[in-house]
Amino acid sequence: AVMVAAAVGALSEIWGELLRAAGATERLVELLGAEDQVRDPERPEALPMPAKGAIAFENVTFHYPSRPEMSALDNVSLAIAPGETVALVGPSGAGKTTIIQLILRFYDPETGRVTIDGHDLRRLKRAEFRRALALVPQDPVIFATTARENIRFGRPEASDAEVEAAARAAHALDFLQALPQGFDTYVGERGVMLSGGQKQRIAIARAILRDAPILLLDEATSALDAASERAVQAAVDEMRATRTTLIVAHRLATVKKADRILVFDHGRIVAQGTHESLVAEGGLYAELARLQFTTGGLAD
Ligand code: ADP
Ligand code: MG
Repeated sequence: AVMVAAAVGALSEIWGELLRAAGATERLVELLGAEDQVRDPERPEALPMPAKGAIAFENVTFHYPSRPEMSALDNVSLAIAPGETVALVGPSGAGKTTIIQLILRFYDPETGRVTIDGHDLRRLKRAEFRRALALVPQDPVIFATTARENIRFGRPEASDAEVEAAARAAHALDFLQALPQGFDTYVGERGVMLSGGQKQRIAIARAILRDAPILLLDEATSALDAASERAVQAAVDEMRATRTTLIVAHRLATVKKADRILVFDHGRIVAQGTHESLVAEGGLYAELARLQFTTGGLAD
């Protein structure tokens, strides 16, 4: 009985920490609110696992509920093949992050459909199809716990050895080992504050631990220090080799490596191709490339 009480106490403490961390992050609360807008189907289809990793949008139009007058996505169609790396580029507010939100089914489209391996997301159980997805958000959430437990969120049943292997693959080992208590250092609120590049590498380690066939990555917009940026690039290069990868890209280096680039503007895909073909075309992409994406203020 004593052990049970201790376990319950520890659990409620952990939850307290999680809730505090969540409360501090408006975005997370927003997402939890968004979750209420969609329902799992009563009789879901099974998504054969492991998923192949094909993603498609078919004539998708979408407004955020709070902004009915504005299309965040306007009749978007795209198809990403298993294993392909696609970069989404475009000015701030063009709809890039919205694409990721719909792939996670935080919202449903008003018209058209979003599919994984040909299955309409509305016919699948969210907890199931999300196992095929790993997300590295633009501003990753770091919970008020140890670095080790922060990485373990990617797959709660992972062993310490697996957590450390993921950290190594994410090029996070050096900075984690240099923390006062290494992997057992408290990070986040009231712990060691991590830089943007370090947070991204924690998020990449989580994604590696998840080992999902589809990687969704919203690149950090704030400048990373050069060492962090190289480490993040190297980690992403290794991950994307074996997965379907969709990157909201703000850095020319990332964009150039993609198999295909989709250029977004005002909720529409206005051009697509390779870096060379799009530069040759002129237009919005050539302008973004000229400004190196991040420095001109055109890209968010
Ligand atoms: P990007 O990632 O390309 O900068 P987003 O997909 O975030 O663009 O946003 C597309 C449009 O939807 C923008 O006009 C933005 O202001 C709006 N938007 C984004 N998120 C929300 C939200 N949660 N509620 C209402 N409008 C939103
Ligand atoms: Mg965005």
